[in-house]
Amino acid sequence: MEQTLILIKPSAVIRCLIGDVISRIQHKGLIITGMKMMQLDEKICREHYAHLVDRPFFPDLVRSMTRTPIIAMVVKGLEAVRVVRDMTGATKGRNAAPGTLRGDFCMSGQENIVHASDSVENAEIEIARFFSQGEIFDYTNDSFKYLYAPDEVVFNL
Ligand code: UDP
Ligand code: MG
Repeated sequence: MEQTLILIKPSAVIRCLIGDVISRIQHKGLIITGMKMMQLDEKICREHYAHLVDRPFFPDLVRSMTRTPIIAMVVKGLEAVRVVRDMTGATKGRNAAPGTLRGDFCMSGQENIVHASDSVENAEIEIARFFSQGEIFDYTNDSFKYLYAPDEVVFNL
C-alpha cells in the first residue's frame, strides 16, 4: 500500500497547529507509520528543495524551514500520495481551497504549514531522506477492515 511523506513545517509548529494537521490526517483514515520531531539544516533543505535552489526566495525558504523543529510523518493508505496532496491544497495558502490544510490554516505561499510528496516516486525518495527503515512501523492491518472494502485491500488478519 502507498506511503507518503508529510512535513509539518515550522509555520505550523510555532502556531500550535501540529495537532490540527495530525487529526485531519487520522480522521481521513490515513495510518501514521512513522513520526518524529527533527531540526532541519541548510544541507537537507538543499536536497529536499533541489528544484528551487536557484530561485530568489530560496534563502528565505531555508530560514523558514529551519526556524523551529519540524514534525516528519510517514502515512499509509490507498493512493495516499494523491490523497494527501489533495488534502494539502495549492502552494499559496490564500489560493488553496477551503477544506484543505493550507486553505483552512494559512495565507502565505512560503509559510504554508505542510509539505506533502507530489508523486509516488518522490514519496519513496523523500521517505528515505527523512526516515531509516527502523523508524517506519507496520502495525496497520487490524484497522484495514474498518477503512476499506475487501476488494480494495487484502485483509491479512
Ligand atoms: N515556495 C516559496 N515561494 C514560491 C514557491 C514556493 O517560498 O514562490 C516554498 C513554499 O514553502 C513551498 C515550497 O517552497 O511549499 C516548495 O515549493 P513547491 O513549488 O514544490 O510547492 P509545494 O509542492 O509545497 O506545493
Ligand atoms: Mg513540491
